[in-house]
Amino acid sequence: APLNLELFCRELIEEFSAVQTTGHQIVFICQSHNTEALMDEQLLHYMFINILSNAVKYSPSGGTILFDLTCDPVAGVSIFCIQDQGIGIPETDQTRLFESFYRASNVQSIQGTGLGLVIVRRCVEAHNGQISVVSQIAVGTTVTIVLPLNSEPLLNATID
Ligand code: ATP
Ligand code: MG
Repeated sequence: APLNLELFCRELIEEFSAVQTTGHQIVFICQSHNTEALMDEQLLHYMFINILSNAVKYSPSGGTILFDLTCDPVAGVSIFCIQDQGIGIPETDQTRLFESFYRASNVQSIQGTGLGLVIVRRCVEAHNGQISVVSQIAVGTTVTIVLPLNSEPLLNATID
Protein backbone atom coordinates (compact mmCIF):
# COMPACT_ATOMS: atom_id res chain seq x y z
CA ALA A 1 0.00 0.00 0.00
CA PRO A 2 1.21 3.55 -0.68
CA LEU A 3 2.96 5.26 2.20
CA ASN A 4 2.63 8.96 2.94
CA LEU A 5 6.27 9.79 3.69
CA GLU A 6 5.54 13.12 5.35
CA LEU A 7 3.08 11.54 7.77
CA PHE A 8 5.39 8.58 8.33
CA CYS A 9 8.33 10.87 9.19
CA ARG A 10 6.25 13.09 11.47
CA GLU A 11 4.96 10.09 13.42
CA LEU A 12 8.39 8.48 13.65
CA ILE A 13 10.00 11.69 14.91
CA GLU A 14 7.22 12.20 17.46
CA GLU A 15 7.55 8.64 18.74
CA PHE A 16 11.36 8.88 18.81
CA SER A 17 11.36 12.26 20.57
CA ALA A 18 8.97 11.04 23.24
CA VAL A 19 11.48 8.49 24.55
CA GLN A 20 14.55 10.76 24.45
CA THR A 21 15.79 12.20 27.74
CA THR A 22 18.56 14.36 26.30
CA GLY A 23 16.52 17.42 25.41
CA HIS A 24 17.35 17.31 21.71
CA GLN A 25 14.91 19.04 19.42
CA ILE A 26 14.18 17.39 16.10
CA VAL A 27 12.87 19.88 13.56
CA PHE A 28 11.05 18.35 10.61
CA ILE A 29 10.76 20.23 7.33
CA CYS A 30 8.79 19.09 4.30
CA GLN A 31 8.03 21.51 1.50
CA SER A 32 6.74 18.86 -0.89
CA HIS A 33 2.99 18.45 -1.30
CA ASN A 34 2.87 14.98 -2.73
CA THR A 35 4.87 12.54 -0.59
CA GLU A 36 3.24 9.25 -1.58
CA ALA A 37 5.68 6.38 -2.04
CA LEU A 38 5.88 2.62 -2.32
CA MET A 39 8.44 1.56 0.26
CA ASP A 40 8.89 -0.93 3.09
CA GLU A 41 7.68 0.88 6.18
CA GLN A 42 9.50 -1.45 8.58
CA LEU A 43 12.85 -1.02 6.82
CA LEU A 44 12.42 2.76 6.74
CA HIS A 45 11.73 2.64 10.45
CA TYR A 46 14.98 0.76 11.21
CA MET A 47 16.85 3.16 8.95
CA PHE A 48 15.69 6.43 10.50
CA ILE A 49 15.79 5.21 14.12
CA ASN A 50 19.47 4.33 13.63
CA ILE A 51 20.31 7.65 11.98
CA LEU A 52 18.42 9.70 14.57
CA SER A 53 20.03 7.69 17.38
CA ASN A 54 23.44 8.65 16.00
CA ALA A 55 22.47 12.31 15.65
CA VAL A 56 21.37 12.33 19.30
CA LYS A 57 24.26 10.28 20.65
CA TYR A 58 26.96 12.27 18.86
CA SER A 59 25.68 15.78 19.51
CA PRO A 60 25.41 17.75 22.76
CA SER A 61 22.28 17.57 24.94
CA GLY A 62 19.72 20.16 23.97
CA GLY A 63 21.02 20.34 20.42
CA THR A 64 18.87 20.77 17.35
CA ILE A 65 18.58 18.10 14.66
CA LEU A 66 17.12 19.01 11.29
CA PHE A 67 15.19 16.40 9.34
CA ASP A 68 14.30 17.50 5.83
CA LEU A 69 12.17 15.53 3.38
CA THR A 70 11.85 16.44 -0.28
CA CYS A 71 9.87 14.44 -2.81
CA ASP A 72 10.08 14.94 -6.54
CA PRO A 73 7.39 12.81 -8.21
CA VAL A 74 8.55 13.93 -11.68
CA ALA A 75 12.09 12.69 -11.07
CA GLY A 76 10.64 9.80 -9.05
CA VAL A 77 12.83 10.31 -6.00
CA SER A 78 12.63 11.17 -2.32
CA ILE A 79 15.51 12.88 -0.52
CA PHE A 80 15.91 12.61 3.23
CA CYS A 81 18.44 14.83 4.95
CA ILE A 82 19.27 14.47 8.66
CA GLN A 83 21.63 17.10 9.99
CA ASP A 84 23.14 17.44 13.46
CA GLN A 85 25.44 19.96 15.07
CA GLY A 86 27.52 17.39 16.88
CA ILE A 87 31.09 16.20 17.25
CA GLY A 88 31.49 15.29 13.58
CA ILE A 89 33.57 12.49 12.05
CA PRO A 90 37.32 12.74 11.42
CA GLU A 91 38.05 12.79 7.70
CA THR A 92 40.27 9.70 7.91
CA ASP A 93 37.38 7.66 9.37
CA GLN A 94 34.71 8.78 6.94
CA THR A 95 35.36 6.13 4.27
CA ARG A 96 34.92 3.24 6.73
CA LEU A 97 31.64 4.14 8.48
CA PHE A 98 29.65 1.38 6.79
CA GLU A 99 32.00 -1.42 7.87
CA SER A 100 30.73 -3.74 10.63
CA PHE A 101 32.00 -2.76 14.10
CA TYR A 102 33.88 0.26 12.75
CA ARG A 103 33.76 3.30 15.04
CA ALA A 104 35.59 6.59 14.52
CA SER A 105 38.55 7.58 16.68
CA ASN A 106 36.65 10.42 18.40
CA VAL A 107 33.80 8.27 19.81
CA GLN A 108 35.79 5.75 21.87
CA SER A 109 34.36 7.14 25.14
CA ILE A 110 30.78 6.90 23.82
CA GLN A 111 28.92 3.56 23.88
CA GLY A 112 28.24 1.87 20.57
CA THR A 113 28.70 -1.30 18.54
CA GLY A 114 29.40 0.03 15.08
CA LEU A 115 26.50 -1.82 13.46
CA GLY A 116 23.84 0.88 13.12
CA LEU A 117 25.04 2.20 9.78
CA VAL A 118 25.46 -1.35 8.44
CA ILE A 119 21.73 -1.85 9.01
CA VAL A 120 21.02 1.56 7.49
CA ARG A 121 23.03 0.73 4.39
CA ARG A 122 21.22 -2.60 3.94
CA CYS A 123 17.86 -0.83 4.14
CA VAL A 124 18.98 1.77 1.60
CA GLU A 125 20.25 -0.93 -0.76
CA ALA A 126 17.00 -2.88 -0.44
CA HIS A 127 15.29 0.22 -1.88
CA ASN A 128 17.88 0.72 -4.63
CA GLY A 129 18.83 3.98 -2.95
CA GLN A 130 21.96 5.96 -2.23
CA ILE A 131 23.40 7.21 1.05
CA SER A 132 26.09 9.81 1.66
CA VAL A 133 27.59 11.33 4.78
CA VAL A 134 29.14 14.78 4.93
CA SER A 135 30.79 15.70 8.20
CA GLN A 136 33.15 18.18 9.76
CA ILE A 137 34.70 17.89 13.21
CA ALA A 138 33.01 20.12 15.82
CA VAL A 139 30.59 21.42 13.17
CA GLY A 140 28.31 18.45 12.59
CA THR A 141 27.18 15.65 10.33
CA THR A 142 24.65 15.47 7.53
CA VAL A 143 23.33 12.14 6.30
CA THR A 144 21.55 12.25 2.93
CA ILE A 145 19.51 9.35 1.61
CA VAL A 146 17.97 9.26 -1.85
CA LEU A 147 15.32 6.61 -2.46
CA PRO A 148 13.24 5.98 -5.57
CA LEU A 149 9.58 6.72 -4.80
CA ASN A 150 8.54 3.39 -6.24
CA SER A 151 10.99 1.04 -4.57
CA GLU A 152 9.06 -1.44 -2.48
CA PRO A 153 11.66 -4.17 -1.93
CA LEU A 154 10.97 -7.78 -2.70
CA LEU A 155 10.37 -9.65 0.53
CA ASN A 156 13.36 -11.94 0.04
CA ALA A 157 15.65 -8.97 -0.56
CA THR A 158 14.96 -7.86 3.01
CA ILE A 159 15.84 -11.11 4.78
CA ASP A 160 18.92 -12.41 2.95
P1 ATP B 1 25.54 1.29 17.13
O1 ATP B 1 25.75 -0.04 16.47
O2 ATP B 1 25.06 1.19 18.51
O3 ATP B 1 24.72 2.21 16.27
P2 ATP B 1 27.62 3.18 16.54
O4 ATP B 1 26.72 4.36 16.67
O5 ATP B 1 29.01 3.35 17.01
O6 ATP B 1 27.01 1.91 17.28
P3 ATP B 1 27.09 3.27 13.70
O7 ATP B 1 25.75 3.84 13.93
O8 ATP B 1 27.25 2.19 12.68
O9 ATP B 1 27.73 2.69 15.03
O10 ATP B 1 28.08 4.45 13.28
C1 ATP B 1 29.44 4.14 12.97
C2 ATP B 1 30.34 5.29 13.42
O11 ATP B 1 30.07 6.42 12.60
C3 ATP B 1 30.10 5.77 14.83
O12 ATP B 1 30.79 4.98 15.76
C4 ATP B 1 30.65 7.18 14.76
O13 ATP B 1 32.05 7.15 14.82
C5 ATP B 1 30.25 7.60 13.36
N1 ATP B 1 28.98 8.37 13.31
C6 ATP B 1 27.81 7.95 12.80
N2 ATP B 1 26.89 8.92 12.86
C7 ATP B 1 27.49 9.98 13.41
C8 ATP B 1 27.07 11.32 13.73
N3 ATP B 1 25.82 11.73 13.49
N4 ATP B 1 27.99 12.16 14.28
C9 ATP B 1 29.25 11.75 14.52
N5 ATP B 1 29.71 10.51 14.25
C10 ATP B 1 28.84 9.64 13.69
MG1 MG C 1 24.74 4.16 15.81
